[in-house]
Amino acid sequence: MALDAIPAVVPAVAPNMPDYALARREFSWAQARAALDGLPGGRGLNIAHEAVDRHVRAGRGPRVAVRYLPLSGRRQEITFAGLARSTNRFANLLGRLGVAPGDRVFACLGRVPELVIAALGTLKARAVFAPLFSAFGPEPLRARVAIGRPKVLVTAQSLYRQKIAAIRAGLEGLEHVLLVRDEPGALPVGTLDFHALLRAASPAFTIEATDPEDAALLHFTSGTTGRPKAAVHVHEAVVAHHATGLLALDLHPDDVFWCTADPGWVTGTSYGIIAPLTCGVKSILDEGDFDAERWYAIVAGERVTVWYTAPTAIRMMMRLGAEVARRHDTSRLRFLASVGEPLAPEAVAWGSKAFGLPFHDNWWQTETGGIMIANFPATEIRPGSMGLPLPGIEAAVVERRADGGVRVLPPGMQGEIALRPGWPSMFRGYLGDPARYRGCFADGWYLTGDLARRDDDGYFWFVGRADDVIKSSGHLIGPFEVESVLLEHEAVAEAGVIGRPDPAAFEIVKAFVSLKPGYAGDEALQRGILALARRRLGAAVAPKELAFLPALPRTRSGKIMRRLLKARELGLPEGDLSTLENPDGPAASPRATAP
Ligand code: AMP
Repeated sequence: MALDAIPAVVPAVAPNMPDYALARREFSWAQARAALDGLPGGRGLNIAHEAVDRHVRAGRGPRVAVRYLPLSGRRQEITFAGLARSTNRFANLLGRLGVAPGDRVFACLGRVPELVIAALGTLKARAVFAPLFSAFGPEPLRARVAIGRPKVLVTAQSLYRQKIAAIRAGLEGLEHVLLVRDEPGALPVGTLDFHALLRAASPAFTIEATDPEDAALLHFTSGTTGRPKAAVHVHEAVVAHHATGLLALDLHPDDVFWCTADPGWVTGTSYGIIAPLTCGVKSILDEGDFDAERWYAIVAGERVTVWYTAPTAIRMMMRLGAEVARRHDTSRLRFLASVGEPLAPEAVAWGSKAFGLPFHDNWWQTETGGIMIANFPATEIRPGSMGLPLPGIEAAVVERRADGGVRVLPPGMQGEIALRPGWPSMFRGYLGDPARYRGCFADGWYLTGDLARRDDDGYFWFVGRADDVIKSSGHLIGPFEVESVLLEHEAVAEAGVIGRPDPAAFEIVKAFVSLKPGYAGDEALQRGILALARRRLGAAVAPKELAFLPALPRTRSGKIMRRLLKARELGLPEGDLSTLENPDGPAASPRATAP
């Protein structure tokens, strides 16, 4: 359904960016940097200083930084001063554990204050922080620890028991595991008590000189092939977190901000932790998973003003109907934003029915570290479009040329989204994989892997991914990682996975396998393979569906043609089959052989 453009809503408070065209002309990253303090004495730039200590020095220590809503028990408020002390303690305890600048500290935690303390304390110690998605199974956790080789892992007692204890011996380089108690019983041998160590550490700490180009964060993401990628971000990124918090999320000092993203992914760090803190606003940290009624109660009860969520959640709310939302007093809301997947025009408009405000879609990815393209408070929304590039961001739609260069395409034509490098939160590399990093660039552009077109007024419209990665409930899933686990099953000869469109999750992971001789593709085997995948990968990543095929379509060079599996599954044109190994072979329509 095509919906008319929605004019910018007359805002309840004056937007930080009242005139987009003017801001684009006048913006500079140097000016954005000047809005932050830098470490006292000109000793560089450190994310944790800008997020926490800066506010304490300016007398804002008593203000609430985080309001934590635990699943059981009373809500807790953490002030900037309290956060400064606990992050100092964490930095000190890392020092006592022998963590040096540049060493890595990983956290596998849900939405709990310990995650915020560990992230910012690590940055104060000038070590590198990486969050891990706590719904991952043991295999994705093992793979990421093997790449990042952290010295310290912070996790919960229950998560350790369920997923990490069994693989601990194989986690090379990991010296200390700190556990947050969340279940009864003594802590396992070989682990340390997070809170006991925190209490014992001094609350005074001075951040040492930090080069803005020092590595600060690692965020794992997935590609079509090979192992996961660990995108490296530096302390300078805070300039973009802060500027985009102001311009794209329109954060004002009196806001109550709620970013619902899981802390295991980049949004949970850039906008769940850093941007609201640098902007000095109060953030909601809700321990629970999605539940529409509870979410509405939070928006109403906590008087949320700016809400940053994701299409999967919006679609689930839409299913319940706008009346359910309207039963709650959400009148404090003044700005709604969404990220992670395409936001349908109907979903943009549904915001107006349910909350009296449209959703503002925005676009970015792990590698960009911060919002790149957005619908802003003071620009017209074109429902279905991701919006316009941020001031300071040059974005284009390009075509890769056969000679390795790119050609910028005119409006209306479909191509790949490309960004001109140079913004502060741009990733600086994939850890241990310089060739893969170099492969992301051509002719001075960073190529994002997303397909889009641009209209005559510069709005970007998402078309799809240029590669085979899958987006399911907002999580980016690498097909190779899933296929590798399927191949561990004794009966599986070949495996290929695709994203099958899904009305709620955007895509679900669907697997196709062929079997070794002597195995029959029956329901029991299907259940057995899916169960193995869930155990090893975690339910959020494992395939939801599995079909058997006599053989999988491969290119002449032996690669599984996921594109073709997908086209056949969806009944779409099969495209160019000239590279197919055996076009008339047994890998016929998957539907024909699905059990
Ligand atoms: P991640 O690196 O996990 O944050 O995932 C980034 C990818 O999610 C992008 O490259 C897109 O494919 C997709 N994505 C993010 N935001 C949007 C959006 N607003 N519309 C469509 N796709 C999006």
